[in-house]
Amino acid sequence: MESLMMMLLVALGVVAVILIGTLPYFVAKSRGHANAAAVGVCGVVGIFTFGVFWLVALVWAFTGPGRAHADGSSARRLDRIQCPLCARRIKPSEIPYQSDTYRCPGCGALNSI
Ligand SMILES: [Zn+2]
Repeated sequence: MESLMMMLLVALGVVAVILIGTLPYFVAKSRGHANAAAVGVCGVVGIFTFGVFWLVALVWAFTGPGRAHADGSSARRLDRIQCPLCARRIKPSEIPYQSDTYRCPGCGALNSI
């Protein structure tokens, strides 16, 4: 009975460590971070470095202007983008994160913002 409780506690601890270790990845992902996968790797490596890389990953996850949190001016600027070739309106989600160029989903033209 005591060893069962011990195994449950260890399993709970492992789950908690995995959840905490992958937290930076989910923060980066939710902010549309360009390097979300790399942030995730850094966070998982952080588990094995007793939190050193985990802290780096967490701070990294919050770097860069997340599209949802971008200042109003840049958000409005992205809302008005139109393909110069086919005049298709480009949604902000169709523009790569922190990129100055995008490929029009309508005609395939590579345009700059
Ligand atoms: Zn186009």
